Amino acid sequence: MNPLTNLTFLFFLFLTFVALGYTWSCAVFPYKACRSCRGVGFFRSPVFRAIRLCRRCDGSGRTLRAGRRAYNSLLRARRSFRDAQERNRRNDDH
Ligand SMILES: [Zn+2]
Repeated sequence: MNPLTNLTFLFFLFLTFVALGYTWSCAVFPYKACRSCRGVGFFRSPVFRAIRLCRRCDGSGRTLRAGRRAYNSLLRARRSFRDAQERNRRNDDH
């Protein structure tokens, strides 16, 4: 094994660990602070003491992280695929 192959292998090993770490962190910490209101959830008016809820996060101050959003959409796609299969099977029975 020449040193270049070794380096490439180490690089891919490193990438795998980073991906695993990111997956784990998205599972444990699915939210991040909203980019628009910086996690506050509302905007304060410069006059009076009025506030306006953030439209991007609906006043919650948090949004899903990109990894978690991808995971959720994957889950949804798989579920709809499974439901369609189930429906087909039920139609075949009759
Ligand atoms: Zn917000």
